Amino acid sequence: MKYFTRRLKALHHIPDFNHHPKCANMQIIQLGFADDLLLFCMGDIGSIKLLYNCFLEFSKASGLEINKKKSSIFFGGVSHDMQEDILEFLGIQKGEFPVRYMGVPLISNRVSLVQCQSLIDKLVGRITSWTAKLLSYVGRLQLIKSVLFSIQTYWSQIFMLPKKITKLIEAICRSFLWTRDNNISKKALLAWEKVCQPRSAGGFNVMDIGLWNKAAISKQFCNICKEKNKLWIQWVHCYYIKNKHIWEVQLNQASWIMRKIVKAKENFEAAGYNYEDLRQMHDFSIKHIDHKLRGDFSKVSWRKLVCNNAGCPRWIFMLTLVANGRLYTKDRLLKWGIETDQRCLVCTQANESIQHLFFECQYAAELWKRMLKWQGISRNIYGWSEELKWVEN
Ligand SMILES: [Zn+2]
Repeated sequence: MKYFTRRLKALHHIPDFNHHPKCANMQIIQLGFADDLLLFCMGDIGSIKLLYNCFLEFSKASGLEINKKKSSIFFGGVSHDMQEDILEFLGIQKGEFPVRYMGVPLISNRVSLVQCQSLIDKLVGRITSWTAKLLSYVGRLQLIKSVLFSIQTYWSQIFMLPKKITKLIEAICRSFLWTRDNNISKKALLAWEKVCQPRSAGGFNVMDIGLWNKAAISKQFCNICKEKNKLWIQWVHCYYIKNKHIWEVQLNQASWIMRKIVKAKENFEAAGYNYEDLRQMHDFSIKHIDHKLRGDFSKVSWRKLVCNNAGCPRWIFMLTLVANGRLYTKDRLLKWGIETDQRCLVCTQANESIQHLFFECQYAAELWKRMLKWQGISRNIYGWSEELKWVEN
């Protein structure tokens, strides 16, 4: 490859060779990643011939040949006739944007709903597998967390996902959590905003994908401010920021994604940072900015019960639901218009409610009495609100 790079460098001195207009200042002709090679030049037949000859020389010297079936040529602002000439000369197929690279679409415009379809399909695929259907609440919660995490590592750091997509992802996750189904349903024991809140605020600490996406794009802005040795950042500075101050720059002519990245300055301002703070930030963490953007939550008084609890995750999940006053007890089902026999199935002496099931029911009361005795605690048992207050102290 060194030989090829040297041959390409020689092109800079040939007057008939024209660089790609957005690569000329930095004299970029080639980019390589693993065994992929991208070559750039002006869309005229003269430059193409010179570039192709360089490649043929390299090919002859190294024995590495181009696989024309797996290669494509992409045009931007090249006349139809010229395109025909170039395609005929190279014998390579014409490629159309967006093209998928490493699993994500390569685009500079707003990512469309259609382009996000594969993301949605993948998401639905993972939560509709037969094994997922057998999971408990907490198993489904864990799966959702892992699916959302994989979305953020792959998509969120590259694109601003359209609001419609983040809402759809949320709706799919919400429906799966509460109904075990991939059909969108409004049925939920806890609002999704609550589910996304930290445990100390009574939620389940699930990623708010829209907010996380904002924080992840902010990372690119931070990189532009700090990491000036990276090629893409030098390119951005060369063609967009120029010598202006990044905090002041207005990009009206740039591509959609560049405008979004530069606009991420507002996220830092919202999180209380200025340019100097950003420059001095040693390690940028998306998590940190995400927390700042989330703002403060009022902590629930019973947080000690659910935070750092080494108990079985299923118990903690149920405990969180009960402490929030949300369980599918019969009194709740009746409020939703589902008519069932209201009596408690354990004692059949009273109607089923959270209060009855956990404290008033004679079996529960007996259980409490024995548990307290076993633990050597001497006190009477009251109800949820009193007991939660007791736990607080
Ligand atoms: Zn009962």
